[in-house]
Amino acid sequence: MHLHPLPAFTDNYIWVLHDGARAMVVDPGEASGVQAYLAEHRLTLDTILITHHHGDHTGGVAALRAATGARVIGPVDEPMPEPLQRVAGGQTVDVLGMRFEVLDVPGHTAGHIAYYLEEMDGAPLLFCGDTLFSAGCGRLFEGTPAQMLASLSHLAALPAATRVCCTHEYTLSNLRFARAVEPGNAALTQYRQWCDTQREQNLPTLPSTIGLEKAINPFLRAHQPSLAEAARAHNPACGSDPLAVFATLREWKNVF
Ligand SMILES: [Zn+2]
Ligand SMILES: [Zn+2]
Repeated sequence: MHLHPLPAFTDNYIWVLHDGARAMVVDPGEASGVQAYLAEHRLTLDTILITHHHGDHTGGVAALRAATGARVIGPVDEPMPEPLQRVAGGQTVDVLGMRFEVLDVPGHTAGHIAYYLEEMDGAPLLFCGDTLFSAGCGRLFEGTPAQMLASLSHLAALPAATRVCCTHEYTLSNLRFARAVEPGNAALTQYRQWCDTQREQNLPTLPSTIGLEKAINPFLRAHQPSLAEAARAHNPACGSDPLAVFATLREWKNVF
């Protein structure tokens, strides 16, 4: 299988997964780049997976469906470009001979879902939309900090080798915040150097892995004493409860 992040707009990726003949795409915010890729690689579009309703994730769905006849799968509780098959957490979807598990991950939007595949070419795979980013997480447009923390904890419990396919290249700006919060984290310093090199060559920093994110992502580390300390320095009323620490970090990041 081939996994490819197709850049779109200023910082989106439309993930393409294909076997050399048939393809699926995740969150196509626009159609033309996908169609060019399909033509270049002589691929038939089989399936479109959607994680949540934002336009930069759904804007290309109608055009792609009309041009290719691909089936569309998306979350049960969000406004979606009809017609489509709607799925919720606990269900599975079979695509190109692979079985994806649907995970409910509310927080960024109320009905946000993710797609998890236990094994593809030796490691698990996760399409998590705007829930988990490398070194960051999505803004809380519709959900509460408690919902987002539960969603991220669910993702953090996946195997360390899970490849994390996020929808935005926000890594460098996320790392600026992560380093301000946790200046003593050596893994962060090392990762930043690698990401700088990638971006200088216009290469993606993604996919990341769950194991790496647990070492460097402040939003997966709210239970760590160093993060509680940083959150208290920002807001002395915060305390050390992981939910309060997470909420403080998320608010802080919004104004950073
Ligand atoms: Zn979004
Ligand atoms: Zn987005």
